[in-house]
Amino acid sequence: MQIPLLDLKAQYQKIKEECLKVTAEIYESQYFILGPHVETLEVEIAKYCGSEYAVGVSSGTDALLLALMAAEIGPGDRVITSPYTFFATAGSICRLGAVPVFVDIDPDTYNISPDAIRSCLSAMSQEDKKTLKAIMPVHLYGQCADMDPVLDIARDHHLLVIEDAAQAIGSEYKGKRAGAMGGIGCFSFFPSKNLGGFGDGGVMTTNSKKLYDDIKILRVHGGHPKYYHQKIGGNFRLDALQAAIVSIKLRYLDGWTAGRQKNAAAYRRLIASAGLDGVVRCPVEKETRHIYNQFVIDVAENRDGLRQFLTDNGVGSEVYYPVPLHLQKCFAYLGYGRGDFPVSEHAADHTLALPIYPELSEDQIAYVVEQLKKFYR
Ligand SMILES: *Cc1c(COP(=O)(O)O)cnc(C)c1O
Repeated sequence: MQIPLLDLKAQYQKIKEECLKVTAEIYESQYFILGPHVETLEVEIAKYCGSEYAVGVSSGTDALLLALMAAEIGPGDRVITSPYTFFATAGSICRLGAVPVFVDIDPDTYNISPDAIRSCLSAMSQEDKKTLKAIMPVHLYGQCADMDPVLDIARDHHLLVIEDAAQAIGSEYKGKRAGAMGGIGCFSFFPSKNLGGFGDGGVMTTNSKKLYDDIKILRVHGGHPKYYHQKIGGNFRLDALQAAIVSIKLRYLDGWTAGRQKNAAAYRRLIASAGLDGVVRCPVEKETRHIYNQFVIDVAENRDGLRQFLTDNGVGSEVYYPVPLHLQKCFAYLGYGRGDFPVSEHAADHTLALPIYPELSEDQIAYVVEQLKKFYR
């Protein structure tokens, strides 16, 4: 049996007619950048996420960069974030000359640990504290970070919270959706995300009219009105084609999420009945709507051997992320070393993402679990 990590072709077959129709209309209109499709999507996303405003942008990475620019974060400023995430989270901070301050993650959820943020703050010098501007939690794999304490800490220290929600559209924490809790939420429409376009794209959410206005101006080089620049922005515009495709997919998103949740439940059941509970840890759900952008297991032993065995038996998998950011070569100048964030380092060495896309059949999931069982027998 061949089971890829992700198969978008089945999804496309379901929405093909709608996609071809709307893209043909856009070709006829020859109106490709921003415009009505983007505006419609922005209204839909704000509603879906329960935020006041949304702004379509060129990618999830650009959303993060633009969020920091809107917050006027620059050289010498500091931003607290997780070292166990996709590169762009910290990359965007450094691109503006600011300094990522890494703190370790929660061993159950892999999300930023509020206790670790508190210890980091109490160890920080008064001088450094003055340069602290924001906290950037990541809602990793589709599950929200523990936001109440993060928001409390942010309020106490006058920090902006920028949610990296690139993997978490529709995810909930205590009834609130990802992107609607902090000052700004950043989402990605990269094709492999739960809500993906047919190319790069992203969206930002906020409840602040001021941030909304600033983001919209910065999205078009900071010109307002056009050709009159109060700020230095960039080209962060979303294409009409991407917006139109994402609008179509948004209507199916809750159904697809339900499919992913059902698959996650099937994995749990089958892994338990295979007697693998002590060997393979399934994702830990904590008071939140987990949308399973990824289904990531934590294995005590021989993760790399397991991955090879799965590959040899036709099962796709992925290691997110093999090197935590504090150990990346490009961040050596920050002065971190091995042992600084043991939970992140453990996750990098012991976790593996299994196929979870909604169209998977129970037979396919059973086959994957059978391979786990064979390997660990
Ligand atoms: C995908 C992702 C991004 C970047 O999004 P792009 O659209 O690929 O630029 C940022 N952060 C996280 C956590 C992601 O998973």
